[in-house]
Amino acid sequence: MKYISTRGDKKEVTGSQAIIQGLADDRGLFVPKEIPKFSFSLESLIGKSYKDVAVLVLKEFLTDFTDEEIEACASAAYDEKFDTPEIAPLVRIPQGGNLGDVYFLELYHGKTAAFKDMALSILPHLLMTALAKEGVDKKIAILTATSGDTGKAALEGFADVKGTEIFVFYPKDGVSEIQRRQMITQTGANVHVFGIDGNFDDAQTAVKDVFNDVSLGERLASEGVLLSSANSINIGRLVPQVAYYVKAYVDILASGVLDEGEHINVCVPTGNFGNILAAYYAQQMGLPIEKLICASNENKVLTDFINTGVYDARREFFITSSPSMDILISSNLERLLYHLSGGDTSEVASLMKSLDESRYYDVSGTAIREGLSGFYGGCSDMPLTHIRLKDLFEKEDYLVDTHTAVAYSVHADYVQNVVDFDYNKTVIASTASAYKFAGSVAAAIGLPDFDNDFDYLSALNAWTGVPVPLGLVGLDRKPLLHDESIEKSAIKETIERILLK
Ligand SMILES: *Cc1c(COP(=O)(O)O)cnc(C)c1O
Repeated sequence: MKYISTRGDKKEVTGSQAIIQGLADDRGLFVPKEIPKFSFSLESLIGKSYKDVAVLVLKEFLTDFTDEEIEACASAAYDEKFDTPEIAPLVRIPQGGNLGDVYFLELYHGKTAAFKDMALSILPHLLMTALAKEGVDKKIAILTATSGDTGKAALEGFADVKGTEIFVFYPKDGVSEIQRRQMITQTGANVHVFGIDGNFDDAQTAVKDVFNDVSLGERLASEGVLLSSANSINIGRLVPQVAYYVKAYVDILASGVLDEGEHINVCVPTGNFGNILAAYYAQQMGLPIEKLICASNENKVLTDFINTGVYDARREFFITSSPSMDILISSNLERLLYHLSGGDTSEVASLMKSLDESRYYDVSGTAIREGLSGFYGGCSDMPLTHIRLKDLFEKEDYLVDTHTAVAYSVHADYVQNVVDFDYNKTVIASTASAYKFAGSVAAAIGLPDFDNDFDYLSALNAWTGVPVPLGLVGLDRKPLLHDESIEKSAIKETIERILLK
């Protein structure tokens, strides 16, 4: 299995090399030359643990790793760090009539209480293994732009990992108070965290620019430093995420409610398009998924793209109660464009050029446009999302966070509005603990106002009885270690200053 750039660089690299490098030389993203097909039957996975399923999926993608290496990485990742032995539990919420039950796939039982842990618990192990395999003896600087959750998950994964420095840049006014506290209280000698005066797109663009600064790269290399990324632009982030869709399907299969080969739908609250792309990979590998439902908040650039074929980021940017989805440039969409175009790298390169230069592109009349019909794009604004979050809690006694609520809400619209509704069972990716967004969740279910997010934690706990994730307990008393913010234009010089000191 080889990986190539989405933008036409002909160089083929191994899984290890792609993970180490993060971004391809021509600014493209690494994609598998061909998406592998399952070499096992789904029935044969019934009864297997999360870790065992992850191992089988990883083996399909990382063919240059030995079985022992993959086993070791997965064992180190999916262990007691998670607060449930199931790792990614599936919770069924029956729907009235024969509407097709909804299953919440709880991806937030790791240390930082959001789904980013699913991949970032294993990425450091994959990276360290890859470095050893390739005989790379350099210090690795991990650059991370975050809309809130990737940052903390990357910090947890890489803090005090020998031979690495971890940098996180977050929009200082664009994350929840809990998210901010999680990041700025992070301990570890190799940890560097900065708020920036911009949004996630600014942070991501600045980080990509650092990767593409050849002269900086050379100066770093001469000091023995190599840059890599913990963002989902790194294929090592994406591949582990395929596993939980497979596991979810197998869990439903095991419960005996699926006919042979019966298709499900998957609904994902989407920001950078990584999580839903993993579901697309699972589908292409052979998982019976019919519709991929892409849910957005007010920043509905993806909804419009799926419905019209026009990607237009020239629009107002909204700060919402689902900040991890407040994104206008969804990086991983580039990988989907590659696959839907049949691997036409010059087409992808020209679309990405248009996006860089004019924040706009149009795929009307292309194979990409046709391929988008496998997706349903929908959006839900804050008032509707909060009503449905409250409704779900009151009727089903099930509490979700604001991001998951966006997906739940879009799915409700899908059920109501789609003319030839499919009655499929649907897996909704539940991407964060409600406590991470305690203020917004408390307001949605009608709790009184408090001064800060930490009072909401206890109020929400008292009201709902849902336990507070361990990682959030006592967070308000931890020392603030990285309470520093910088201009977005200073990202590059900050990295340089720290790495070349
Ligand atoms: C990152 C994140 C998302 C968006 O996931 P993408 O892979 O970027 O589309 C949604 N919800 C939460 C809670 C997140 O942390």
